[in-house]
Amino acid sequence: MSQPIRKVVIAGGGTAGWMTAAWFAKTLKSDVEEIVLVESDDIPTVGVGEATTPYIQVYNQVLGIDEAEFLKFTGGTYKLGIEFEGWGREDNRYFHPFGAFGRDFGALPFHAAWLRHALETPSDSLEAYNLQAVAARAGKFMPPTGTNSPLAEITYAYHFDASLYARFLRHMSEAGGVTRIEGKIETVLTDDRGFITGLKLNGGRQVDGDLFIDCTGFRSLLLGEALGVGFEDWSHWLPCDCAYAVPTVTTTPPLPFTRSIAHSAGWQWRIPLQHRNGNGIVFSSAFMDEATAVSHLMSSLSEPALAEPRRIAFTTGRRKKFWHNNCVAIGLASGFLEPLESTSIMLIQNGIARLQYLFPDRAFEAADIDAYNAEMTREYEEVRDFLILHYHVGQRQDSDFWRYCQTMPIPETLAARLALFESRGRIPPERGEQFRTGNWLAVMWGQGLRPRQADPLALSIPHADLSRSLSDIRQVIAACGDRMPSHDAFIQHYCRSTIGM
Ligand code: FAD
Repeated sequence: MSQPIRKVVIAGGGTAGWMTAAWFAKTLKSDVEEIVLVESDDIPTVGVGEATTPYIQVYNQVLGIDEAEFLKFTGGTYKLGIEFEGWGREDNRYFHPFGAFGRDFGALPFHAAWLRHALETPSDSLEAYNLQAVAARAGKFMPPTGTNSPLAEITYAYHFDASLYARFLRHMSEAGGVTRIEGKIETVLTDDRGFITGLKLNGGRQVDGDLFIDCTGFRSLLLGEALGVGFEDWSHWLPCDCAYAVPTVTTTPPLPFTRSIAHSAGWQWRIPLQHRNGNGIVFSSAFMDEATAVSHLMSSLSEPALAEPRRIAFTTGRRKKFWHNNCVAIGLASGFLEPLESTSIMLIQNGIARLQYLFPDRAFEAADIDAYNAEMTREYEEVRDFLILHYHVGQRQDSDFWRYCQTMPIPETLAARLALFESRGRIPPERGEQFRTGNWLAVMWGQGLRPRQADPLALSIPHADLSRSLSDIRQVIAACGDRMPSHDAFIQHYCRSTIGM
């Protein structure tokens, strides 16, 4: 006989905790008796995590979030992709846009056709085949509209103030019946099978439950510390381990993209919000000392800082299991792969949706737990490989950091992918991965990886036909870009925030 979960306890109230609470308040309302979130006002959240991927729209839609209301509340802007500066080569600049490139030529995928053309015409720009890239470069934005045109498929994400997003979700969660308990977790109580039975808080209070979600951040108080689930360290592949973040005032209209600017031992981000800019430096402490990193960050700011730079140390990697017994870790408690492609919130969201799909009863079936762990592991490894690609492929020779990254051994899965692309420009067919053909194409090409020869099927198309078709695609995309309003005008009209006014 089924023994349903009666009480879900979420430990931690950062982005992960409140995203979990809001989702379960909406989707589990009739299935569980109680959802409780415990957070401590004395333990700050990590406070960064302001750039997202398009998957966030699915999350917001399930919750019924009104986009304009949410962007006003969080000072949010639209994101069409990421501009990489100094990646691959110091003088290099490329755009990794959301959405697909061009369109397929019958059975021939677009990338195979374009790569043949680009090998013969190296001056051709890949960006011209993606509306998000064209619009971003021109500072434009609008949501999808119409049918049968690239304008109908505009793919976008958001930048937002992370603490305001958590507050927004807290309002929704509490309105949906989640009980918030303020308190510091001092002890995690377990039974002799290694299941968590309750959390002991300061002041002697105790919160019992059936299912515990660990959203306590890097410390992983429940899954890591109390249940002893180990950490798989990936810093030999992703060596950045420290960041400093600092907000600055805005003096120009916000750009509809994130900027990622490489430096000699890592990179810097710049995330435009309506009421401020988020800036940060990410670096490897083995290759750059902290004073140099801070000075590099502060001297590169083009506007006055609104606060002192804040230090955040981390180790890249993941928990060896994401779900053990009656505890599931979501967010930083489950692992962290560094912020380069803004993947953390996406992984949070996937963890939540997957947990809901495999939602247990009090028997905690091994099949459900194993399926969850296998899928999350696959996803983490896929994101890991995509991030390593940025560091490993390139020709920068200006520092020991870049020389290390280019010569370090890489995971076999990534090595196989790179070899496949290098031989004839092949990208494996998509099988539900987070990063699609267009993502791999943009970054492999952008980092300077070139196939030795074109796909034979692409070589069978007459040169003139291929050139004409590609020219048609470029023209359609350019015309669509011309029709779009400026990002700033769209925000002013649709979701202007009054934060800081
Ligand atoms: P936290 O924000 O650390 O929250 C932990 C919570 O646990 C807090 O509420 C705290 O009070 C509570 N807690 C801890 N211990 C106790 C205790 N003993 N008792 C009670 N409560 C406790 N992600 C993206 O998707 N996009 C980005 O652009 C991005 N940029 C990043 C940049 C940097 C430099 C870093 C380090 C991360 C970035 N991330 C990004 C990741 C993102 O910030 C996190 O995934 C996200 O904020 C979720 O954090 P969290 O909720 O897991 O942990």
